[in-house]
Amino acid sequence: MLENFLRDLEELVNLDCGTHNTAGVTRAAQIMKRHFEAMGWTAELVDLGESVGRGLFATNKPGAQRYDVLMNAHLDTVFADGTASAQPFRREGNLVTGPGCSDCKAGVLAILYALQGADPADLDRLAIAVCMDPDEETGSKYSAEWMRSVAARTKTGLVFEAARASGALVRSRKGAYQLRVTLKGVAAHSGNNPKAGRSAILEAAHMIAEISALSDFDGTGVTVNVGTISGGSAINVVAADCAFGVDIRGWTDADMQATLEKITARAAHPCIDGVTICVEVLGATPAMPRTEASASLVEKINRAAELSGVSIDWVDAGGASDANHMAPSGITVADGLGPIGNHAHSDRECLMVDSIEPRVRMASRLLSLL
Ligand SMILES: [Zn+2]
Repeated sequence: MLENFLRDLEELVNLDCGTHNTAGVTRAAQIMKRHFEAMGWTAELVDLGESVGRGLFATNKPGAQRYDVLMNAHLDTVFADGTASAQPFRREGNLVTGPGCSDCKAGVLAILYALQGADPADLDRLAIAVCMDPDEETGSKYSAEWMRSVAARTKTGLVFEAARASGALVRSRKGAYQLRVTLKGVAAHSGNNPKAGRSAILEAAHMIAEISALSDFDGTGVTVNVGTISGGSAINVVAADCAFGVDIRGWTDADMQATLEKITARAAHPCIDGVTICVEVLGATPAMPRTEASASLVEKINRAAELSGVSIDWVDAGGASDANHMAPSGITVADGLGPIGNHAHSDRECLMVDSIEPRVRMASRLLSLL
């Protein structure tokens, strides 16, 4: 099995699949369609608009109204065109390197191989949907709605992002809001007439200090990060403009919403008279919270690991994935079911070869428990 897996992985890694490369991502979807059809499954490319490559949908129960399991991994990578030929698939001892080898090409194939290795009785009993999306790395803007609509008709979601370098899987993920805050002040000569000015930069400085203090690292876990800022026109001008970007993270949507409301309320009360502040929400990724149902799924995965002789652990992650987009649909979801990877999004990205078989076996075994 391992040699076949690595051969199939080499084909996918040696294909430029940056999200922007719609032809490359569609090619990856076509390759996976071929694999699923060879297994006797129904598979189709999914048109999600001209801005992204095709997604892939596969199922063992065509026409099903509801599914027992939704398996997901993404087809795209963060890498520029040319990376596949500059740093092609390479196997050296226990490591495979190459663009997207663990994020998420190994996860894509782990789904296929887990299904190939599953007990036929489980495949007969369970209605399984596979959704492979083309744009996870840019926030699944074009695929989230599609995945949500399948998730809304499914009981259990299994997301095959790579397991952490420690081998840990992911039982919850923070959500994220992205904001742009725009401040307008009054320009004035900083030498001749400074008092006539209303500095948008000074107001921003006060506001940034105040909203950054909303981070509650040890309590709710909410964090507020101002990651970008721009403003002013010249060093001798009281700044009429300033804008900054804010990233709010939280374990629940309610926590993030409450933080957003505090920031909006602060914006309504500038400390410098004559400055106005506008807060825009650019994007909102829902949280994938820990729930009673997710705790029971974690127990089933622990059991599958035990039965497969794999030792696993769990983390709560600050970063989002497609699991976040599915979670609000009421599906119970776990993430990190792929083989173990490290250094994602860098030229050192790698995959631990000795984790492939055990993790695939564990996923096959898990189906029996669902
Ligand atoms: Zn990634």
